[in-house]
Order: sequence, then structure tokens, then C-alpha cells
Amino acid sequence: MRICFTSDFHGSESLYQQLDELLRRERPELVILGGDMFPDGDPDDPTGTQGRYVQEAFIQRIEAWRDALPTTAFACILGNHDWRCTQHALHTYHEQGVLTLLDHRWIWAFRGVSFLGYPCTPPTPYFVKDFERLDRPGDALPETGGSTWDTRHLRVQKVSPHEHYAVRPTMEEELRKAVRPYGAWIFVCHCPPIASVLDRLPHLDFPVGSNAVRDFVAQRKPLLALHGHIHESPQVTGAYRDSIDGVLSINPGQVPDRLHAVLLDTDRPAETLRHTVYA
Ligand SMILES: [Zn+2]
Repeated sequence: MRICFTSDFHGSESLYQQLDELLRRERPELVILGGDMFPDGDPDDPTGTQGRYVQEAFIQRIEAWRDALPTTAFACILGNHDWRCTQHALHTYHEQGVLTLLDHRWIWAFRGVSFLGYPCTPPTPYFVKDFERLDRPGDALPETGGSTWDTRHLRVQKVSPHEHYAVRPTMEEELRKAVRPYGAWIFVCHCPPIASVLDRLPHLDFPVGSNAVRDFVAQRKPLLALHGHIHESPQVTGAYRDSIDGVLSINPGQVPDRLHAVLLDTDRPAETLRHTVYA
């Protein structure tokens, strides 16, 4: 199966336009979007901003692609810049069959391959968001609080690091409970594995990926692991692919003005892998 994977558009119209051209030219059978595809939105009104963007711009685009490319399917995960209320909205489109929301609690099987998705990242130095978790039990809490979506009262709530992280499982604990697909499967996970060529930032001399993700990939052995989140990593390391205990793992990276995406055939991923920017 020929797939196209990209992520981290953060609402960039230019990147969506470039992806439009790529998809019409390449006509892949499946397009996977790896999270952080929307503008952050107003932290006081995520449904009226990010939610509105999803409804008015993003889904319109998916519908247009579905019309233009009737044999192409679309799947996505969310990222740490996305709100839980956006996940609820996308779940409605998932149930309507517009695009598939990948998750680690259920298996999506498509043309002989199974897919699992996972949106969370370890804490970032900015502020707490819905899809951030401690990487492993015992990790230090970050210093800054933030805003998350209160799913009971359907409104934004301000949270301290303790209020957010102490009541949620770590990434390691969540991934341990992931379902186990049979046969060939692909793991789509916003955060890259730690200590790879996929998780480096230009101003830091240490890796910033996830231990839990690395262990999960090494132990569960998907056919392929697709990541995003650390936009600059390919620029820093010169590489967008790595082998995590024998598993081909990819972070295409992203910049605002030039589409970073990969294309590959799941029958022979390593041999057919192409990047829109890197050789
Ligand atoms: Zn991003």
C-alpha cells in the first residue's frame, strides 16, 4: 500500500496547499497526518478557534481531497498543541467515516495493515496542555502550569503541573495498555523515540524524545513507526529515518514554507521511502 505521511502544519495554508499538489500528483492509497495540524487557538476559547478551524477549514479540505481522490483514505492523530475538545470533534468525523482517528486503544485495519496512534508527548518547557504526560513514573514535574479542556463541564480549566500530571497515567503506563494487533502494523505517534536522530533541537545538546515511545517501539516491533513533534530534528541531524531495535522509524520534520512529507510502500518501506526535501 502506498502511503503519504506528514505532520505539524500548525494551520499553515502554504503547507496544506503544497500537500494538495503532492497528493494530486502521487495519488497515495492512504494519507496519515501526524498531529499538530491546526492553529493552537485561543486558550480562552479553543472550541471557537481551533474547533472552528477544524470544522470550517480542515474538514472542508479533507472532503475536497476525498472528492478529488476517491480511492485515497485519510487518517490522523492529534499532537500536543491540540485540545481535547478538538479530539471530540474529530471523533464525530471518525464515526461518520470522513477520516479515521487513530488511537492506541483500538485497531484500525486498512488494506491488510493495522494501525495504532498516540498523541501524547512528555512535558514541554512552555505550558501544560491536554496531550502532555510524564514520560515515565517518577519523572520530575515541570515548573509551568497551563490550560486544559475540562471534559465534564465543557470549558477551559487552568491547571498546575501537579493537578495535571499527578492524576494522569504516564506515557509508559498508557502505552503498556495499548491493544496488540496481529500481523503487520504501523505505529503513528506524535512524539519521536528518545536518543535517536529524530528528536534533536538546534539549541539543546541532549535528546528530547520519549523513553516510553522508544521502549514501546523496541518491544512491540511495528512494521514502521511514524513521528513528528520535533520539527527541526532532520535539519539538526541530517537524517529523517532511524532504526529503533530494527524498526524503521521516521520523523519527516517540518518548516513553515517547504512541505516535509514522506511517501513509501508498506510492502517494502525501507526501499521505497522518499522525502519531499531530503535525498
Ligand atoms: Zn508541532
